[in-house]
Amino acid sequence: MTDCLFCKIVAKEVRAEVVLETERALAFRDINPQAPTHVLVIPKAHHADAAALAEADDGLADDVLKAAHAVAVQEGVAEGGYRIVFNTGPAAGQTVFHVHAHVLGGRDLTWPPG
Ligand code: AMP
Ligand code: ZN
Repeated sequence: MTDCLFCKIVAKEVRAEVVLETERALAFRDINPQAPTHVLVIPKAHHADAAALAEADDGLADDVLKAAHAVAVQEGVAEGGYRIVFNTGPAAGQTVFHVHAHVLGGRDLTWPPG
């Protein structure tokens, strides 16, 4: 997708602070962090949201989830606890329609979320 911000990050047309790259996934720091660790994990292939990613049915959702956990380990938040969030659709606050897992940690996270 030529007009997709996260596709442009995959294509290295837009700079990002990449923390992990696998064959099919990319993880980079959120530009507006909401916690000491706030990393976005995306499939390199374009899918609009979590539902589309799951429907792709080729193990890609697995790859993204495994990469999200690997980021948490790498960032040192896996043991204490962290959150993986897929905002899905406008009512959930999704603003970038290339599916991304937010990996949040490094502080106590409250529930319910806002
Ligand atoms: P969402 O609201 O769930 O769609 O999340 C989109 C996230 O992308 C927000 O947390 C933004 O801060 C983040 N974001 C937007 N542009 C960039 C960028 N160029 N690099 C890194 N993160 C970004
Ligand atoms: Zn995209």
